[in-house]
Amino acid sequence: MTTATAPRAGGRGAPASRQAKPSAKPALSDAARRFQRLGLYAPQDFVLHLPLRYEDETQVVPIRTLIPGRSALVEGDIIRSDVTYRPRKQLTAVVADDTGELQLRWLNFYPSQQKQVAVGRRIRARGEIRGGLFGREIVHPRITVAEGALPEALTPVYPTTDGLAQPALRRAIAQALASCDLSDTLPDEVRDTYALMPFAEAIGFLHAPPPGVAEYTLTAHDHPAWRRIKFDELLAQQLSLAAARAARRLKSADPLPAPRGRKSLVAQLLAALPFALTAAQERVVAEIAHDLGRAYPMHRLLQGDVGSGKTVVAALAAAQAIQNDAQAALMAPTEILAEQHYVKLSGWLTPLGVKVAWLSGSLSARVKRETAAAVAAGEVHLLVGTQAVIQDTVTFARLGLAIVDEQHRFGVGQRLSLTKKGEREDRIAIPHQLNMSATPIPRTLAMTFFADLDVSVIDTLPPGRTPVITKLVNDARREEVIARIAMGVREGRQAYWVCPLVEESEALELQTAVDTFDTLSAELPDVRVGLVHGRLSSSEKAAVMNAFRAGEVDVLVATTVIEVGVDVPNAALMVIEHAERFGLAQLHQLRGRVGRGTAQSVCVLMYASPLSQVARERLRAMFETGDGFEIARRDLELRGPGEFLGKRQSGVALLRFADLNTDTEIAEAAREAAGHMRAHHPAAVDAHLARWMRGREDFLRT
Ligand code: ADP
Ligand code: MG
Repeated sequence: MTTATAPRAGGRGAPASRQAKPSAKPALSDAARRFQRLGLYAPQDFVLHLPLRYEDETQVVPIRTLIPGRSALVEGDIIRSDVTYRPRKQLTAVVADDTGELQLRWLNFYPSQQKQVAVGRRIRARGEIRGGLFGREIVHPRITVAEGALPEALTPVYPTTDGLAQPALRRAIAQALASCDLSDTLPDEVRDTYALMPFAEAIGFLHAPPPGVAEYTLTAHDHPAWRRIKFDELLAQQLSLAAARAARRLKSADPLPAPRGRKSLVAQLLAALPFALTAAQERVVAEIAHDLGRAYPMHRLLQGDVGSGKTVVAALAAAQAIQNDAQAALMAPTEILAEQHYVKLSGWLTPLGVKVAWLSGSLSARVKRETAAAVAAGEVHLLVGTQAVIQDTVTFARLGLAIVDEQHRFGVGQRLSLTKKGEREDRIAIPHQLNMSATPIPRTLAMTFFADLDVSVIDTLPPGRTPVITKLVNDARREEVIARIAMGVREGRQAYWVCPLVEESEALELQTAVDTFDTLSAELPDVRVGLVHGRLSSSEKAAVMNAFRAGEVDVLVATTVIEVGVDVPNAALMVIEHAERFGLAQLHQLRGRVGRGTAQSVCVLMYASPLSQVARERLRAMFETGDGFEIARRDLELRGPGEFLGKRQSGVALLRFADLNTDTEIAEAAREAAGHMRAHHPAAVDAHLARWMRGREDFLRT
């Protein structure tokens, strides 16, 4: 392994051709390429590449005192070295010091290793001591020649990648530490307030801790040096989110103020609704109405559990935009969901004279073209659809508000292109943006990861809902479940039958759905069974969903296509097969499809034993609570924040050291400090971001 970063001649005649073309980039050395795979480009990156754990090579342990199960360094003479076959070929050697003997053993070995342990050599060996069948031994020890002084600090073990050995990484990092500016980016009063170690001290300590530091406090990131690093990391995140928020405020948007008077579109819509808004809905409607009136773009996340009534909030926001002569767009991740929004929104708004249009990829080219033309001409007030809404062929005459349902389902890119739809010839006005999500995000996560967003929460369900009863039923009792469903149908209720998720194979998933449909149809001849799955064309899907909504289908067999947002109040029964295969958030979403009417709803989670520990915890959570925030909290516990939020979008992937499950207190401190530094120490803010956010500019979402 080499640490050389000088370009290697890239094959025949390379040096000559490079001289001929001075602009050509020199080829990367293998080492440099491997460093880059670890995200290590500039010296600063190496400085922040911190050890996973440490090895104590500062002390030689007398062989007699070795304790099995612990790692240790021993020094002695090789008194025996053999290649044996028992039964496989292996190398064994015995090292002896004044106090005893220890066996060293390799199951695979190179001739060079055999030479290292030739009889008579004085060596140092390191590894975990095992109490083997043939006495104490180390399997695959690390061997060095016994010469030179022992190191004075613990030896760091860094995260690495294939083909990059620890010594090469250590050398590169040591070089970076010697050449980099490690001066503090935190003003003294911030360090004092939060009792933080100076940066240089913390970094130096973590790369080379003195012997005697409890290994646990280092690997568990519990040491004050780690606290400083985690604080810095979280601070950088808070500072960049705050910068993104400030940048957004400098952009311009068309103000779409809340209308006054009883004749306004918003007032008319409110009057036409068959229900009164809940207090929670009124609160978030007011928050949004206020934001829309501003001359910079709103960027608000509307959170509310499944069934909390987000759609009407979106409709009221759209009405406010339309009242101001702007257009609104609503985008949903699936065709079924988008279509349902279309039905609901046009049902509310068309009678009030609003032109609502529908756009999805599956429409004929001609219809798509006509719709796009009407949108471009400003004839359409509200465009509802799937991703088709953000395609390049769609331009808006004056897009004032973009609403994204189940926003976490879309990539950042897709959400951004919706924002771009506001660019017009004369000026750029960014549309206001409302993201809706039924995945409640626990407070600390929202605070740290959505600090650049404003968050509105609908925290109560509309009245008249009865909590869903959840039953856990073993697969073996399938016949009983079928009989129950039949009984429910005879009482006039409708049911969903959700088929198992088969992650490896969509074809298999489809097959189980078709099989279930056949079985249920055969076993329950007097029940009308429908089937919906991802392979149906969108008109077929719509036909089945409409039949279900109209009560012409009693039991709807479905793959997970019904997961998000479907609203059929009369459906009060749900069966989820192989519930153990679903994630917690997904189960909660699915269960949210029932319990929407006044009838007592039941959700049966069928599972196959044996259950894994995590699956058991998930099912337990589903059984114990129906509260989306509580479910989210447990989900977070089971999965960790990275997976919870979806790594790509959340920036969680950027948190290498801090752990939001345990470092909430540091996160709060960092947030407070970020505000203080932005107000009083702008230069320190820049220095801090330069150190921590190098190459991570994509993190700055706007
Ligand atoms: P979600 O937040 O999951 O998108 P929806 O917007 O689909 O929820 O609303 C769920 C159901 O509750 C719908 O049938 C909707 O019409 C109804 N609803 C919404 N708000 C109220 C309210 N304030 N009172 C009664 N029913 C409501
Ligand atoms: Mg919804």
